[in-house]
Parts: sequence; structure tokens; C-alpha cells
Amino acid sequence: MHTAYVNGTYLPEAEAKVSIFDRGFLMADGVYEVTSVLDGKLVDFDGHIARLERSLAALDIVKPVTKDELLQIHRELVARNGIDEGLVYLQITRGGAPGDRDFAFPDPGTTPPTLVLFTQSKPGLADNPAAQTGIRIISIDDIRWGRRDIKTVQLLYPSMGKMMAKSAGADDAWMVEDGYVTEGTSNNAYIVQGNQIITRPPSSEILSGITRTAVLRFAEEAQMEVAERKFTLEEAKAADEAFVTSATTFVMPVVQIDDVALGAGTPGPVAQRLRKIYIEESLKTAI
Ligand code: PLP
Repeated sequence: MHTAYVNGTYLPEAEAKVSIFDRGFLMADGVYEVTSVLDGKLVDFDGHIARLERSLAALDIVKPVTKDELLQIHRELVARNGIDEGLVYLQITRGGAPGDRDFAFPDPGTTPPTLVLFTQSKPGLADNPAAQTGIRIISIDDIRWGRRDIKTVQLLYPSMGKMMAKSAGADDAWMVEDGYVTEGTSNNAYIVQGNQIITRPPSSEILSGITRTAVLRFAEEAQMEVAERKFTLEEAKAADEAFVTSATTFVMPVVQIDDVALGAGTPGPVAQRLRKIYIEESLKTAI
């Protein structure tokens, strides 16, 4: 059985437990990160920890261990669990005191945060067959709260979105607010018009993806044209191609939005090129 980490201890996954009074459980009062593993190494670890620090600061949760300790724990789990391709999941909650369910935050001096990590092995992450065919998405209303820039564990609506996609025979959903696409249920959204890659700029309305930042940098380095602006669902349906990015899917082509096939209905050249560059560059810089 695989090993998990809970508050300073490595233990078998089935024995990894937190209190029923943990505010992560009671109130979704916690944040998380997912870092992918390629070739047994962590992709963009610095980026994920920088965003973790921003999420914690936004919610006044105390960071329980240093960045160096987090790196050491990530590496230890990857080694113990023999992860070659996969991910490390990290969650920090505000913790909780026995018998307490106050809405007011507890005193961090007496109630320390909870730190939990585990791994998932995903052989074929880089060679994902879905990247050959592309994915189909549906559009749904974005009814999430207004601080989507904080990576909280409040993931009920994104989960419902994936289920809506599944029952419609699609792979995922893009969320739409005031006619504009915000993002995918667990990824950032892009369209391609001619030679231009268009994606929504970071704000409190979306999660600023770590993969997004890297992909836009690689696109610019490759002299590809990038416009950070909002785009409508109608523009997306009329686009030449579309794709999503996230830590575990890298760059994934989108070939259909609602009932509309994009371009030839197959993965577009821009998405395919960016996927290749992203995986190559990530392999070079993974630690
Ligand atoms: N947007 C949302 C809502 C997400 O949940 C995620 C990842 O989980 C992303 C975007 C992509 O972020 P990253 O590239 O850091 O994985």
C-alpha cells in the first residue's frame, strides 16, 4: 500500500486520518496544490509553492512548514511510492479543535493547521491518448464564489460540472459568466483565432494556472502570438481551435464545444505544438 503524509508522519494510506473537527472537513476551510511528476521529478515545484503561499495568505492560514521541508516531503513520497509519472496532492487546512464548530477562525497559536500529502501514479501522463483525439466540452453557467484565484478545496460545483459533462456524453465543461468563458472545471481555457492564442487574464474570476503561466511563456518564446483577454462562448465556437491547460493534463486539445466541432474536429496544430514544447521543457526543468 502507498504511503501518505499527515502532520509530520508517513503512514499507510488506509491509516492516514484527520479529525472530524478539522475545518477542511466542516467548512472547506483549506487550500491545495497538485504538482505533476514526470520522470520521477516534480514539475514547476516553485510555481506551485508560490501559489500555495498566496492562497494561504489570502485566507490567513499559517504555513506549517518551510518550502524546503515541503520539497523534502514531496520527494520522499515520490520515492517511497515509486512514482515515475503521476502527481503529488498537497492540502493544508486551518485545522480544528475538539468540539469546536465556530464560524470564527480559531487561534492559530493553539489550533495548528493540518498538512496532508499523498501521491497518485498515472503512467502515460505524457503519452495521454486523449491528446490524440482531443476532448469534447459543454458550457455551463459559472455560479462559483468570487475568489476563484484562491485554490480552495471548495470543489463541489466543479465536481457537478464534470458530472453534467459526463451525462451529456462530453469530457469536461467550460464555465461561462456574462457571456464570457471563465475557465474549465479544473483547467484554464484558450481559443486560437488564426495565429493568435487567446486566454482570459488572471483576476479573482479564475485560478491563475501554474501551467498557464509556463505555457504562455513558452508560446512567446516560440514567437507565437498571445492575447490575454476575455472571450465569449460564441467566439469559442467559431474559433479555429481550442485547448485547456492544467498540471496533470498539460496542454489538452478541445475539439468540440456543445454541439459545435472546431476546425476539422481534430486537435489543432497550435495546441499540439504547445503540448510538445510544454512536456519537453518541463522534463528539462523538473526537480
Ligand atoms: N482552473 C481551475 C479552476 C483549476 O482547478 C485548475 C487546476 O486544478 C486550473 C485552472 C489549472 O491550474 P494548474 O495549471 O496550476 O494546474
